[in-house]
Amino acid sequence: MSTNLTRNFSIIAHIDHGKTTLSDRLLEYTNTISDRQKQDQLLDAMDLEREKGITIKSHPVTMHYRAKDGKTYKLNLLDTPGHVDFSYEVSRSLAACEGAILIVDAAQGVEAQTLANMHLAMDQGLTIVPVINKIDLPSANLPGVYRQLEDVVCIPREEAIKASAKTGVGIEDILEAIVTRMPPPRESEDNLLRALVFDSVYDAYRGVVSYVRVVSGQVKRGMRVRLFATDETYEVKEVGVFTPKMQRTDTLETGDVGYIIANMKSAADVKIGDTYTDTANPCKEPLAGFKEIHPMVFSGIYPVDSSDFEALKAAMAKLQINDAAFTYSAESSIALGFGFRCGFLGLLHMEIIQERLRREFNMDVISTYPSVIYEVTRTDGEEMLVDNPSILPEPQEIQEIREPLVRVFIMIPGDYIGDVMQLILEKRGAVEHTETIDDTRVMITGTLPLAEILVDFNDKLKSMTRGYGSMDYEHAGYRAANLIKMDMMIAGEPVDAFSMIVHRDKAESRGRELATKLKDVIPKQLFTVAIQACIGGKIIARESISAMRKNVTAKCYGGDVTRKRKLLEKQKEGKKRMKAIGRVNIPQEAFIRVLKSG
Ligand code: GDP
Repeated sequence: MSTNLTRNFSIIAHIDHGKTTLSDRLLEYTNTISDRQKQDQLLDAMDLEREKGITIKSHPVTMHYRAKDGKTYKLNLLDTPGHVDFSYEVSRSLAACEGAILIVDAAQGVEAQTLANMHLAMDQGLTIVPVINKIDLPSANLPGVYRQLEDVVCIPREEAIKASAKTGVGIEDILEAIVTRMPPPRESEDNLLRALVFDSVYDAYRGVVSYVRVVSGQVKRGMRVRLFATDETYEVKEVGVFTPKMQRTDTLETGDVGYIIANMKSAADVKIGDTYTDTANPCKEPLAGFKEIHPMVFSGIYPVDSSDFEALKAAMAKLQINDAAFTYSAESSIALGFGFRCGFLGLLHMEIIQERLRREFNMDVISTYPSVIYEVTRTDGEEMLVDNPSILPEPQEIQEIREPLVRVFIMIPGDYIGDVMQLILEKRGAVEHTETIDDTRVMITGTLPLAEILVDFNDKLKSMTRGYGSMDYEHAGYRAANLIKMDMMIAGEPVDAFSMIVHRDKAESRGRELATKLKDVIPKQLFTVAIQACIGGKIIARESISAMRKNVTAKCYGGDVTRKRKLLEKQKEGKKRMKAIGRVNIPQEAFIRVLKSG
């Protein structure tokens, strides 16, 4: 079968520039979906994603479009997540396409967030069709957007299609451009099965559903297929396409986008970017570009009530069946008891998992300060990865520690350039270059340690630019840095939940900050309690809590015996949830308050 009448494409857009509205318009124009269906079937599925305005997993859609040349084309729209945490998934979805539509809001212009995905699309050699959306807005500034397209993404203005997803202007032009400018899928020479897995979802009834682009050959029900990364074979139970409902078909052929269901139990059984081939007649090599994805950000997650540990364990297992990118293993902490060390693709992914634990599993959890993963070369030459300060070797055993870096793209009004450059420097970053985008905005490109943007970088950027700054980042390798482990000691005992790996220059200020916070939350004891921050036994910051004779019954005026007893019982109850750190009893609530405030 010829692939000449097939086009596979994605849409790249900054949040709010109109990707959803434009996708709806394309589906309406091609009669793919009725208004009634639209509500519950369209692209993103999870409430959480909708609330956050970010699509993480979404169905591809197949449309049929009768073009001006009189032929009917099959157009597969593959959606891509718009967040750096999922950039590997984006890159695999783009690898399944020949073209991409770049949407730019006519009033807002090019934004930082579109750039990283644009780079991915250009690296893959995709044909880009630029669309300037919202031309109906009175504030539309076409000359400005043309100039930005040329300056920032090197696209000639003549190529841009003017559109309004609101009024429907330009929709047919976009469909014609997909058909005429984007190339059809290439035909293969050997016709051996190569199907690229660009996404997968877990369905409680059907198990794992792999989303695939057939790069060559054919796949059908009953066939035995093999996955390269795991070297496992499966019998294909079903293949089909997205209309956008999953609809079973007989086969999927070269150029097609659809799904494969085999007997798989967990999302981890199929890895995004892997290749399916036919066991009877296999291709020799998998498709290029496969990578094992590794978590970038780690944090401990503990039940607030320790009796919830088993329930939390069950919830973690369920989450992982759905989401292979999420990892967890049991750990324990002096301050927080039994819990899990969890790995995430990034901060947004971490937030999503925490939120799902709360909403879907009703778990009350506390998470420790997020940490990145460090590469460590020991003096004996051994290399190790450190995702938890507690496993960092002693300073004398470390030859070098390297930390992950990111390249950031920051778009801001020109007035704030000095403040933002200062912020980058404070966060141990370096500015690579600045570029004027238009009369009012500049783009700063720089490199920063990932650990420094984990917590409050984006918030600071937003507040110092009154909400006008936007940023995006891509991973940029590892670099050696002067990093050390800082421990917190309470009454001479180390408290593991507060240990952290920090840059030497920042250790004092971080230590002081944490000591002050702990001083505020730890109740007075019968003796003076020292709170110390130390590096390798050397104290770098110190606070102390003065002693107080605790007499809970004092305020009862000595008279009422039942009230006195009640109070004593209440105190006993409270003691159960105390953690003993050496001689000091600290309510768990105190740790939770410190960790929650970051
Ligand atoms: P997404 O975040 O990229 O998916 O953006 P949406 O499709 O949700 O659109 C963001 C907002 O812009 C919504 O309020 C839309 O109604 C509005 N919008 C989208 N396209 C147009 C357009 O062409 N003109 C105008 N005036 N508004 C639009």
